[in-house]
Amino acid sequence: MVKLATTLAMIGLLGTTAAAGPSGTRRVVIDPGHGGSNAGAKGPGLNEKQLTLAIATLVGERLRARGVDVHYTRTDDRTLTLRQRVAIADRLPADVFVSIHANASPTRTQRGYETFVLTARGIDVDGRALRGDTTTPRPGVDPEIALVLDDVERGAAQWEAADLAVRTQRALRERRGASGDRGVRQDAHHVLLGATMPAILVEVGFLDHPIEGRELADPAIQAKLAGAIDEAISDQLAD
Ligand SMILES: [Zn+2]
Repeated sequence: MVKLATTLAMIGLLGTTAAAGPSGTRRVVIDPGHGGSNAGAKGPGLNEKQLTLAIATLVGERLRARGVDVHYTRTDDRTLTLRQRVAIADRLPADVFVSIHANASPTRTQRGYETFVLTARGIDVDGRALRGDTTTPRPGVDPEIALVLDDVERGAAQWEAADLAVRTQRALRERRGASGDRGVRQDAHHVLLGATMPAILVEVGFLDHPIEGRELADPAIQAKLAGAIDEAISDQLAD
C-alpha cells in the first residue's frame, strides 16, 4: 500500500507531528484507560484501571528499551478526561497515541480482543465546520492554511492508525489465538478530539468473562499482551 503520510511528507504538506523528533527519536504516548474515580470494567481481583496501568507500564518499558521516547497519560491512579489525555499527546507532539482498555459485556459471556481506529472529529464530513477550537498551533502560518494542514494531517494519520490497528490485532492473534479476534473497528464513540497523530484504542480482552477475566489478571498473560502491543508499535515506527 502506498503510504499517504510518506507521500504528503515528500510534497511538504505534513508538519512536525508526523515527522520524527528533532533527534530522530520517535515519541509514543501510552494511555492507560480509566483511573481514579473511574474504575472501568470489573474483573476478578482487579479492575480495568489497574489492568490498563499494568499493561501500559510493561509496553512503555519495552519501547524504552528500544530507544523510543515514551510518555504516559498517567502513571498512577488518577481521574483524567479524554480531552486531557489527548492534550498530553498534542502538546508533545506524539508520533503515535495508544489507549489501552479492557472490555465487559452485559451477559459476561463475550471474550476476545479488538482494536479501534480513533477518529479525529469531523474528518469524514466537513471537518472545519464541526471541529471548533482544536487547531494545532502553527507559528507563522496563515490561520486559513493552518486549518487545511490540520485536515490533511488528520487524513494521513487515519491511514497510519488503521495500519497500526491491523498490526496490533495480528500480534494479539499470534499470542491469544485466532478465535478471540474481534477485528479492527471504527465507530462514532471512539473520537479523539483534536489529535493529528495516528491513534488507536486496544481492548485487550473481557475482564468480566469467567475464564478470560482470570487470564487477564495473570501477570504472564499481561506480559504477552504488552509484548503484542510493543511489537505492533515498534514495527509501525520502523516502517
Ligand atoms: Zn475502558
